[in-house]
Amino acid sequence: MKTDKDKPWTWVRYKLGMCQGCFGCCCTMPVEVRAEDLVRLQVATLDEVERSPKKMAKRLMKEGILISYRESTGLFTITSRPNGDCFYLNEKTRLCSKYELRPEVCRKFPEIGPRPGFCPVSK
Ligand code: SF4
Ligand code: SF4
Repeated sequence: MKTDKDKPWTWVRYKLGMCQGCFGCCCTMPVEVRAEDLVRLQVATLDEVERSPKKMAKRLMKEGILISYRESTGLFTITSRPNGDCFYLNEKTRLCSKYELRPEVCRKFPEIGPRPGFCPVSK
């Protein structure tokens, strides 16, 4: 069965080793991160976060790293490329270019996600 990232009921149960050869489908869905993730990604400083997350978000949006910031939830959305790829996804290798520094939400997928334990895996 073909999976559709927008239709979690088509996803398949995650198994160890499944990422190998996957198109990196989880990295083609919108990624919402917290300020601490941006600090770990080394695109913001703690000082900046403490001074004004809003100002920091404005700068990162100007730089093309973020597309939005919601003050009420404290969540920042990482830019998606026109094809849906995350800003940090390497187009050719389909691997994260910031793997060691990746956000918490990426570390927890698919344990935590639209359908816990399931993936929109596609070759
Ligand atoms: S969608 Fe699932 S199988 Fe594919 S890269 Fe992401 S976690 Fe791995
Ligand atoms: S930050 Fe890296 S792991 Fe997270 S969605 Fe983007 S490319 Fe994928």
